Amino acid sequence: MISWAPDYIYTDGKFQSGLALVSNQHGSIVEIVKSNEAPDAVRLPGRAMLPGLVNAHSHAFQRIIRGRTEYRSQNTTDSFWTWREQMYAAATTLGPEEIYAASRLAFLEMALTGITAVGEFHYIHHAPDGSEYDDPNLLAHEVIRAAHDVGIRIALLRVAYARAGYQLDPNPRQVRFIEQSPETYLKHLDQLLAGIDTKDGMAWAGVAPHSVRAVPLDYLKPIIAFANERALPVHMHVAEQPAEIKACIEEYGRSPIALLDTEGLLNERFTAVHAIHVTPKAVAALARSGAGVCACPTTERNLGDGVVPVDLYLKANVPVSLGTDSQTQIDLLEDARELEYHLRLQKLQRNVLAPEDDTGSSALAKRLFECATVNGAKAIGFNGGTLAPGAPADFFTVDLNDLSIAGSSPDNLLTNIVFSLARTAIRDVVVNGKPLDLK
Ligand SMILES: [Zn+2]
Repeated sequence: MISWAPDYIYTDGKFQSGLALVSNQHGSIVEIVKSNEAPDAVRLPGRAMLPGLVNAHSHAFQRIIRGRTEYRSQNTTDSFWTWREQMYAAATTLGPEEIYAASRLAFLEMALTGITAVGEFHYIHHAPDGSEYDDPNLLAHEVIRAAHDVGIRIALLRVAYARAGYQLDPNPRQVRFIEQSPETYLKHLDQLLAGIDTKDGMAWAGVAPHSVRAVPLDYLKPIIAFANERALPVHMHVAEQPAEIKACIEEYGRSPIALLDTEGLLNERFTAVHAIHVTPKAVAALARSGAGVCACPTTERNLGDGVVPVDLYLKANVPVSLGTDSQTQIDLLEDARELEYHLRLQKLQRNVLAPEDDTGSSALAKRLFECATVNGAKAIGFNGGTLAPGAPADFFTVDLNDLSIAGSSPDNLLTNIVFSLARTAIRDVVVNGKPLDLK
């Protein structure tokens, strides 16, 4: 048993003082008790404890192109698609050791910002010439090793990628991603599932059809059926760019979400990543199915993708999680505040996502914080994101005297953390009951 007693613990939807959090040797929270009942607790004066943040959508290797795409690339208007060509320059060259190093760098930065679990949308499978490695999951295991060495949890969401797009010629820069048939993909996924040691709950796998552009329907159906049989999380890029919607309507006569809905592929384990360009009908379809949405606002603003209509999703009770995606900036609380800020800019209003009955409470911050914690945990398939008995002992602490949040009262501390916390305030990061050494 090990216990910690900070000034405040965020539990049961509010900051409470005079408590200690007790974890067992397996890294699960056993109980939260009065601090005087835990005389051996590690005292953390001047600090507040919060559940670890859950990053539901990451491409770790993209950390290495940070700062390398912020210039005019050619004599055209830059967009997601021109950025993608620049990103492919990295994706086509990295070897196993480099994938490990890039991933470790990204995961270390995540841990330093309070992220304790990541959903890694992993799509580089083959050698640079497109040939299969002896172990078709060599690179997936390198990414898992990187998360393990930093000490954060990882859901390895193994990507299926079949083609460049509807009626498009093969793109030679995608040869590392492509597995021609669903049988090949499922064989490799099965091997990955068998090869991950899931005993301590620090790593597991999920299914990630890349997008309706890259995975045609006859490939999509069997792999989602497999995921449903095994109760695995399913993540998919959906409606990130208008061009994808247009191509999907040309191919199937339906938008991506309408296609997924009418084919019965949406359920509560499905997460639509981005889901920006959607109709009210699509929002209703997601709500009906129990599926969630993962927004990545820092990346979406960087790539010029558009604004996720989180107001519509929250109104329809669609759970929204958050991802750092392209790693332009790794700060999940920044993503949380951008959900609200993007809508303010769009609608020329304030407190757009605050519940209707919110009168001076921290209900808006609470909603945004849920996106960064419990909703993310649900999306990637584990019971984290909260500090309660039975949940994993994953948390971070903040220094209450850090200038970014100094002067907070218990009532507005969460609002200050969600809207104003700087990384300098983060102190301890504990995953599975073990403090990480982040020096
Ligand atoms: Zn992505």
